[in-house]
Parts: sequence; structure tokens; C-alpha cells
Amino acid sequence: MVSPLRLGIDLGGTKIELLALGAAGNELWRKRVATPKGDYQATLMTMVALVEEAENALHLRGTLGVGIPGTEAKSTGLIKNANSTCLIGQPLRRDLQALLQREVRIANDANCFALSEAADGAAAGARNVFGVILGTGVGGGLVINGSVVDGVNGIAGEWGHNPLPVEDADGPLPAAGERPFCYCGRRGCVETYLSGPGLAADHQRLVEQHLSPEAIIALADQGDSGAEATLQRYEARLALALAAVINILDPEVIVLGGGLSNIPRLYRNIPQHWGQHIFSDTVATRLVQHRHGDSSGVRGAAWLWP
Ligand SMILES: [Zn+2]
Repeated sequence: MVSPLRLGIDLGGTKIELLALGAAGNELWRKRVATPKGDYQATLMTMVALVEEAENALHLRGTLGVGIPGTEAKSTGLIKNANSTCLIGQPLRRDLQALLQREVRIANDANCFALSEAADGAAAGARNVFGVILGTGVGGGLVINGSVVDGVNGIAGEWGHNPLPVEDADGPLPAAGERPFCYCGRRGCVETYLSGPGLAADHQRLVEQHLSPEAIIALADQGDSGAEATLQRYEARLALALAAVINILDPEVIVLGGGLSNIPRLYRNIPQHWGQHIFSDTVATRLVQHRHGDSSGVRGAAWLWP
């Protein structure tokens, strides 16, 4: 049964946003408030107040999905891997269900991004969609037949902490072949090369210029050879890392989000590089830019209910 009112909440470290969608996915109501800093109880009450305000305004009771920067542990129902640390170890879903007297669905923000783009975004109509966030970190989410796949460990799509293959497309890495450390404790994670900070660090290692990702991209556009080489390494690595995803999931569409997804040349160059790493003579997978941008988290949360 299609819900007449789908409520989605994007619970972020700095803001909490609620979006209400009608049965056809049309936007009915939206509000954004500041996240109470480091205060779990106040965060809960803010979310409850937003739901009540939306439902009072619309005279409808809705389903509720919540996108979080973390994961709910399957065995305990407690939040883990969250960068909003007041959420860690809390039974968020249980508490919201008790306060709002309804079943609540929770997913991490990369899964919400993928679901939003699969539902009515850049991957609408595709059955097998991989969503990638290339931002401060690297995240991924998998949607098959309109549903998020979360996996038995709750980490399906967490591709950012796979090791990038050592046979890096541009040859051995600098600094005596050292692969950069990741905050997760491993070395050479996809995230340490393909996040915004990863791109900046790579440029610093080879060109010895400390620049933001935006500045590197702008310099490459102006024909700077060092910045151009950095972007070419970035593209070769992204192609290699996505080829591994394609060999396993064979998605129809890969959607990119996050700050680095706004580099137009990625959509031309990556599909030219990835074929050499993919076990197929032709590759029909499409690489596309997000449609909903910053709204994807809250939209995907609302779409957690059919
Ligand atoms: Zn890592």
C-alpha cells in the first residue's frame, strides 16, 4: 500500500531536516532546524516536534524514515559508526518508535542518497543502482528493485574502506611506495584517495602544493600540468575502484553525489578508463550525476517506506 504521507528526517551533525512527501512523491512540507549539540535527548525531542508540526499542518499521519550519519547495529539496535557522537550507543529507532507510536525505519545517509536517486532522481527506472558519495569521506549505497540493501552486517555498499588495488593505474605511489593511512586504521582505502581531502593530499604528495580540491580543479581547467596530472590520477583510480563494484554488482546506473561529483569531466573520462578493468567486452553501466543534490538524504529517508 502506498503511504499518503511519507515523512523523512535527515539527522545531521549541524541540522535536522524534515521533508513530507505526498503519495506521488510530491513535496508537501519541509523544515530545517539546528541540531542540539551533543545532547541526545534534545535531539530526540527536536525530531518528535518536527513530526508533530508537519502532521498538524497537513492533517495526516505519515510513515517515518530517518537518515543518519552512521549505522544501526543489527544485533543490538544501537547506533554505531556515527560521526555525531552523541548518537553512538543509543537505541534511536526504539526511542523514536516509543515516542511517536509507529514503526520507524533508519538507514545511513549514503543508502538514503542511493534510494532517493533511484526513486525519482538520476537513476529513476533502473533496478540495480549503486550510489556513491565523493565528499569529505567516501560512502556508497546499493538499491535493488527499489529497496535499500543493508546486509547482514549493515555495511552493504561501504566501498570507501575497500583497499584500492595496489596496481594503481599510474604506477607506484610516491613517498617510498607508502599507502596513506585511513582513520579506520587500514591503509590505502578508496576513501584516502577519492575523498576531497584524499585528492588534496595526493596533489600535495606529488606537486608539493597545499590546495583545496576546488583550487586543484580550477587550475586543471586553466591548463596547469600538475593539477591536470592529479585529476588524471584521480580519474584512473576512480575508474579502477568503480570497475570492482561493476564486476560484483553489475549495476545499470552508478550515481555520483558529494562535492567532487560536480566535476563534469568525470562523466566523460571514467567510462573511457573503466572498460580495461571490467570483465565484459561492452559496458552498458551509465555513470551519472545526482539530481537531488543536498536534498537526497532527506528524500531518501522519506522513500524508506513504499
Ligand atoms: Zn578506511
